[in-house]
Amino acid sequence: MHCSLRRFPLTKAVPLAISRGTTAAVEHLLVSIEHEGITGLGETGGFETGHRHYDSDAIACELEALFPRLVGLAPQPLQALAPLLADLSPPARCGLDLALHDWWGKRLGLPLHQLWGLDSELAVPTSVTLGLGSVDTVLQRLERWWAQLPASRIKLKLGSPEGLEHDRSLVEAVATALERRRQQRGESLELQVDANGGWDTAAARSMLGWLAEHGVVLVEQPLPPLEDPDADCAAFAALELDCPIPLVADESCWNLADVVRLAPYVDGVNIKLLKSGGLTEALLMAEAARRLGLGVMVGCYSDSALLNGAAAQLLPLIQWPDLDSHLNLLDDPFEGPRLEADRLRAGLAPGLGVTAKTTGAAAAGLELGSC
Ligand SMILES: [Mg+2]
Repeated sequence: MHCSLRRFPLTKAVPLAISRGTTAAVEHLLVSIEHEGITGLGETGGFETGHRHYDSDAIACELEALFPRLVGLAPQPLQALAPLLADLSPPARCGLDLALHDWWGKRLGLPLHQLWGLDSELAVPTSVTLGLGSVDTVLQRLERWWAQLPASRIKLKLGSPEGLEHDRSLVEAVATALERRRQQRGESLELQVDANGGWDTAAARSMLGWLAEHGVVLVEQPLPPLEDPDADCAAFAALELDCPIPLVADESCWNLADVVRLAPYVDGVNIKLLKSGGLTEALLMAEAARRLGLGVMVGCYSDSALLNGAAAQLLPLIQWPDLDSHLNLLDDPFEGPRLEADRLRAGLAPGLGVTAKTTGAAAAGLELGSC
């Protein structure tokens, strides 16, 4: 197979602030593999979780070093390629893993969820994200989302550098706005929160019961992730009994081993393809988490419709989809995942169900951004 890499910009319509900083734009990488006239596409890019950091330049170097070793090999069987992918960082592996899956689905003429035997009728609403900011800014962002789609699941970022009082004022303001809309429109609305590791144990303990009393239905990653796996589990264990709502691990949960490790201490896990190294691991994680009795979220970073379209192939397994980043881009070069009201479904095309746009500024950006 022949492999290539291109850089492309992604610019957010509304910058996103979380506990660790603000993102307005990123540069991601398009991985293409071509074999026997079929092209498979994958996306990757840098991200950070507080305790681990990857940048797009280093990911590009990893992939470019591997590509010559793939010449003369076929994209299938995947098992034969696994040893070559094993030493890559998770985001580098993700880009290639997605391209290989896309090629496989295109060769067989079906989207991946059909090849996996998943029921595409099973789709629940995706959450949309409210970043940190002033109360007014956050409420304006909520209204902007509602002007774009009938969002019924709202994820509010907490862990503000301004402290717990600001976090509480954001929850109160958003909960009030949801209640007003509930009364006006008779809609069922849900408020989730994600502290992105922005609290310490005392702060988290003081917030968990309060959040439940204010109608919050789920809390994600209250404490910073820890490199030591036992200490990381102990941190969740210290909160478990104080948490009356589902406690979900995100930054702490990267792969199947993490799902198994965390299962006794959390109620759910947030799977992201850049953390897991692609769909091979993510499918195992989702299936295993469900069998362990965990709720499963599938999330994103500053990803385009290519990465989110790949993640959307897992949606029939997902209780809490959180794939909204591509809905907040000015220059997404890809299209595919379908939005019906606030329910996201995988694209209908074979493979990842995603195609590159052929017209417009975003398509031009894809052409210009070569490595
Ligand atoms: Mg999260």
